[in-house]
Parts: sequence; structure tokens; C-alpha cells
Amino acid sequence: MDTYGFGARDLPVLGEWDTVVVGGGTAGASVAISAAREGNSVLVVEKAASLGGTPTHALVTPMMGSRVEHGHNLGEIERRLIALGVKTREDDGLMGYIWFTPETFAEVLEQMLLEAGGTALYDATLASVDVEAGAIRAIEVMTVEGPRAILAKQFVDATGDAVLSRLAGVPCLSGDDDGNNQMSSLRFEMGGIDVDAYRDYCLSLDDDFSPLRQGYFWESAMVAERGFKLEPLFQEAVADGVLQPDDLVYYQCFSLPTEPGCMAFNCPHLPGLKSNASAMARSAALAQGRFRVRRLVTFLTGYMPGFEHAFLIREAGMLGIRESWRIQGTYVLDVGDYIKRARFGDAVARGTWYIDVHSATKGLVHMEKYRAGEYYEIPYRCLTNRVVKNMLTVGRCISTSFLVQASVRIQQTVIDMGDSAGRACARALASGRELADFDGCGLMD
Ligand SMILES: Cc1cc2nc3c(=O)[nH]c(=O)nc-3n(C[C@H](O)[C@H](O)[C@H](O)COP(=O)(O)OP(=O)(O)OC[C@H]3O[C@@H](n4cnc5c(N)ncnc54)[C@H](O)[C@@H]3O)c2cc1C
Repeated sequence: MDTYGFGARDLPVLGEWDTVVVGGGTAGASVAISAAREGNSVLVVEKAASLGGTPTHALVTPMMGSRVEHGHNLGEIERRLIALGVKTREDDGLMGYIWFTPETFAEVLEQMLLEAGGTALYDATLASVDVEAGAIRAIEVMTVEGPRAILAKQFVDATGDAVLSRLAGVPCLSGDDDGNNQMSSLRFEMGGIDVDAYRDYCLSLDDDFSPLRQGYFWESAMVAERGFKLEPLFQEAVADGVLQPDDLVYYQCFSLPTEPGCMAFNCPHLPGLKSNASAMARSAALAQGRFRVRRLVTFLTGYMPGFEHAFLIREAGMLGIRESWRIQGTYVLDVGDYIKRARFGDAVARGTWYIDVHSATKGLVHMEKYRAGEYYEIPYRCLTNRVVKNMLTVGRCISTSFLVQASVRIQQTVIDMGDSAGRACARALASGRELADFDGCGLMD
């Protein structure tokens, strides 16, 4: 087919695949790798210029720990990172963090996708959807050639923001009961840090936040009014007019493997963006975030031991969105499931990370942490919906309550979920069933 009718417009067709994954991020890349490895023809449509999504473009590293047996993709990602010279772990008591740099993560995902036979279409943004009789027939994607139609038997929404799901008419919710989303952040990286001097200073204050006390990796944090030992130094900078009081809401940084003297900063929070459902508000928050990054850099280089010769390397090219829209799917995973460590016959992933809300109005909201060996399962039905039969939704925007999303969203869990979803695509297609009719059993075997 040369052209496809999108309403009154005939669009040139870019191609047709078994499975089209919209969004080549944390979950989407994993879906595409698994589906391609199992024999489907797969295209990933990604608006950025590389795979990896939030870890790659919002500079979110390392992967928080998840103490369960993982799917094939996560194990292979770590093995390939190590083969590229990345030190991914330290015997650190940190419950299974995987350390990486954004570029190596993107490189590994791309290698795995291409070797599995999948294709990536970069610099391509989903614009609209053609739904007919409860199935997506085609999507419209804006490319450098102009708008193009892409056809597939199955579609996967891995946009993080449930963009494809919303365009296709799947009901979604965003935020907590008041419509406030979790705090968003604009992350950044600095170099030229004397990490040993920084660590020695923190330890000299009896700062016991980090379980790491020696070795390559170092993690440090300060949250105002929670007794953090670094707070007086931050308050001194507020008194001097270098920082503003709400710069102290959340500060955290992590070492970067293979980059001595460099650290990745999990801040600043963007308190002006309580609801991130508006395109204009997201853009304004990015501008606000850049001012905040500059203030933090000025503070760190002027006040923090170890940062005397440090400099800003870069700020993220993507806003760090912890939570936005969530589909209202066939099953909604909620706090009851988290509390009872729920098990499901159609499990796609296991989660162990605690409910970790960066609330826009209540500060940090945490729920009971699991003990070693405990986990909950995420059912396949959190990825399906009752509106579109040939689509799955994966990643941070699956069907959960606001609170449970704050556990499900961590990278190891969404990579595992994507791994299973890719297998579901291949097995549903091979058995002639729509994704919504597939039972989802045996995907983690
Ligand atoms: C500030 C912050 C700190 C975090 N800290 C940690 C941490 O320390 N450790 C941890 O494990 N997790 C952490 N997380 C959570 C975790 O990183 C994310 O929840 C997870 O990466 C989300 O994966 P995803 O696949 O759902 O979305 P993403 O990885 O964001 O992927 C979505 C992809 O879709 C693409 N896309 C979106 N719209 C379109 C469109 N219209 N057309 C084409 N492509 C599109 C995007 O470009 C992107 O590549 C943090 C998150 C944030 C924001």
C-alpha cells in the first residue's frame, strides 16, 4: 500500500510491521527486543535520537534495586554493560542497584534490538491514530519527510505518558486524588569533583545516609527538615542568598561508573509543576529547572568540600517525569495488592521497591518496605484495556493506582515488564489471538 487514508488525508505509508512499539524508552526497548527475538517483525518509533528514554535522556541513573529473579533482557543488559567496561555493582548492601551511564545504556539497547532483527525509527513523533472496530489500524508519525502512516497488526504504547492509549480512546487518570502529579525533576551531571574529599566531609559530619562508605561509588542526599547532616550548609547558602528555601526540598547525587570525578544529580524538584498534564506548564518548568540547576552548581562549587574545581557537564534533554497519566486497564493494581504481596497467574513482572512518592504537596510519602524474599506481581491485565484489542501499554503508565505506580515505575521492574510484553506480542500473534484476548499465562517462565 502506497498511501493510507487518515480521515480526509492520504498519507504516504512508511511500512508495515507485526508489532510497532511507540516509545523506545526503558520499557519500550525491552518489549521490542523480546518481540523481535521471538520472531515478530518490529519497529520502534522514538522521538529522540537514541533508545533508553528516561535513563538516557532524563539522565536517571542508577537503577534502584529489585531483589527478584529478573527476565532475560535485564540480565543481558547488565552483562553487556560490564563487557563495555562499566562497573555495574559494588558489594554495597544497596539491595541490587545497577549502576550505568546514560550513553552505555542506550548503546546496549540498540545493539540488542538490532541483533534481534528489530528496527528503530528515530526523530519520529506519534501524532494521531486510526482506530476502527476496536483495533488500531495505523498511526500517523511526524518524521523529517513529513507526516507518514505506519501500519501494524499490534501496537505497544511505551511513551511513558500513555500518549498512544489516550489518542486511541483508552480512559486514563493522572496524579493523586487532587490531580497533583509526583514532583518532576530536571537532572544534571557535574564533573571535576574530588569525590573522596566530598565523601570524607559527609562522613566527618556522621552523615549516615549512604550505605556506601568506601570504594568507587558514593551516594549523597539532603532533604530539608529531616535531620540530614548536610542541611546546615544548605541553610547557610540560603541565608547568603545563593539558594532559595525550596531548593532544599530534595537534593541527591550518585557516582557515575567509568567517569571518575563525575556525579549524576537527582534534583532539582520543580515545585511549580504540580500537575504535569499541560504542555505549556512542562515547558515553563524546564526553564525554571535550568535556573535551579545553575543555583545548585553555584552553591556546590562555592560551599561543598570536594567541589572546588567542579563544573556543570550537562543538564537533561528530557524533563524527569516520575508519574503522569495511567491507563485504566483491565485490572488496576492497588495498595491492597502491594500490602498482600499479590500473586497472579498472568504475572509479567515482580516488584520489590517500596512505595516512594515524591508528593507535590506532602513531601516524601513512603510505605512499608518489603523484607528480603518478598515481592508482589504485576498481572498482564494491567497492560491491556477494554477499548483497543490490539494494543498493550507498558512502563510507568500501566494500570495502577497512584500509590502503587510509585513502586512499579523503577527501571528494573519496567524492563522486566517490557520483556514479558514482547513475548506476549509474539505468542498472541503466533496463536492468532488479539493482545486483549491473550491470557498472559507463562510469560515469566
Ligand atoms: C527524576 C526521576 C528520578 C528517578 N529515579 C530513579 C532511580 O534512581 N532508579 C530507578 O530505577 N528509577 C528511577 N526513576 C523511574 C524510572 O526511571 C522511570 O519510571 C522509567 O524509566 C520509565 O520508563 P518508561 O519506559 O515508562 O518511560 P521512558 O523511559 O521515559 O520511555 C518513554 C519513551 O517514549 C518516547 N516518547 C514519548 N512520547 C512519544 C511520542 N509521541 N512519539 C514517539 N516517542 C515518544 C520518549 O522519548 C521515551 O524514549 C526516576 C524517574 C525520574 C523522572
